[in-house]
Amino acid sequence: MNNKFTYEQLVERLDALENAEAEREKAVSERAYFEKQSQILLDNSPVCTKIVDLDYNLQYMSRAGIEALDVDDVTKLYGEPFPLKFYPEPSKQRMLKNLEKAKETGAVISFETDLIKSNGEEIWFHSTLVPVKDDDGNVDYIMVVSADTTERRLGEDNLKKAHEEMLASRNALEKETAAAKAANFAKSEFLASMSHELRTPMNAVLGFAQMLQFDPRHDLNDHQNEYVENILQGGGHLLELINDVLDLSKIEARQLSLSIEDVICNEVIEDVVGMTAPLANKKDIEVIDNFSAQAAVTILADRIRYKQCLFNLLSNAVKYNKESGKIIIEGKKTDDGYLTISIEDTGIGIGKEDYENVFHMFHRVEGNPNIANEGTGIGLTVTKMLIEQMDGRIGFKSEKDRGSTFWIELPLGNNS
Ligand code: ADP
Repeated sequence: MNNKFTYEQLVERLDALENAEAEREKAVSERAYFEKQSQILLDNSPVCTKIVDLDYNLQYMSRAGIEALDVDDVTKLYGEPFPLKFYPEPSKQRMLKNLEKAKETGAVISFETDLIKSNGEEIWFHSTLVPVKDDDGNVDYIMVVSADTTERRLGEDNLKKAHEEMLASRNALEKETAAAKAANFAKSEFLASMSHELRTPMNAVLGFAQMLQFDPRHDLNDHQNEYVENILQGGGHLLELINDVLDLSKIEARQLSLSIEDVICNEVIEDVVGMTAPLANKKDIEVIDNFSAQAAVTILADRIRYKQCLFNLLSNAVKYNKESGKIIIEGKKTDDGYLTISIEDTGIGIGKEDYENVFHMFHRVEGNPNIANEGTGIGLTVTKMLIEQMDGRIGFKSEKDRGSTFWIELPLGNNS
């Protein structure tokens, strides 16, 4: 075999060798460059990256990992089994099992566990195990990529706790409300039956007192007359109170049944004006009824209860009026299908500070000796409840020392 080369051939070979060497050096420096870039990337990434060999010994931990786990000197950890250092039980077993699985199957596995930092603090990592394979497809090492999920986890825990607390207090509230409702219902039932029981003897007391007053065979002397008058006044007041309480408790105990029908409002107003006339005359109060003589207007209401409501408002207008005052009654249809009846007086009025209490049970104006014995403080509460049960509306406007206007509205009837 002829091993001799020509000069040209030798030069050519040498050139080829030089080129190959240059290529290799370029490849080595490129690889070094990429390795450095990868390192920079890993170190600056906010993701915690660790690399473990197939015995799970730590080979690399990125800066984010070092900071997250509060590691002083990472070099001391290199070569040690990574999971054992930071994971408490049972997370340690879980990590080992997943590393095993990733190594054996080559599959990527994601999961969340808690870890204990070097300073003893508990944190949460969402980790993904990435088995990195060599050119032959065998797993070479495992990359563990983790994100710190402690804040989200704490937020979830707090949210869960807050939700549980909210559920607990809602349950407690529901129980309390049910108990309060039951107690209120029992109270209303009791009051309804008690008031009923009280009414009969009270009527008897009043009846006998009237018999004493008007018995033609036995004239009473002045003292006796005064006593009987006191019995009648006190008894009348008590009967009014009993009737109001009975109504109120019946409404609350849902025992009140209403019979809603077409009611000619003009007739009711006329009746009520007639009923309050003696009271009004006593105080020399002029009642101007601008409504009942007008064309008939029907409303949908329970006749007796509607009359009771109007009577309450009109007798208040007399009761809280001044001597020789005025009362004006007006009626007007509204655009949304109601009839408004307003009762205006020139009485003592209501101060702004008392507005919100007017419809509250047992609320009475204090410190007015003229009216001290005249009311029960339930009339308007009952009126409001009745009007609302009849799908109506009630309200007032008032100015202290100048007078008040109370109004009620009920749906117009079928013939209006
Ligand atoms: P009462 O039996 O005391 O009249 P009401 O419930 O009817 O009870 O009225 C409650 C309170 O509202 C009264 O005590 C009074 O202070 C006030 N009030 C009601 N109507 C009038 C009015 N027309 N003018 C002034 N104050 C009124």
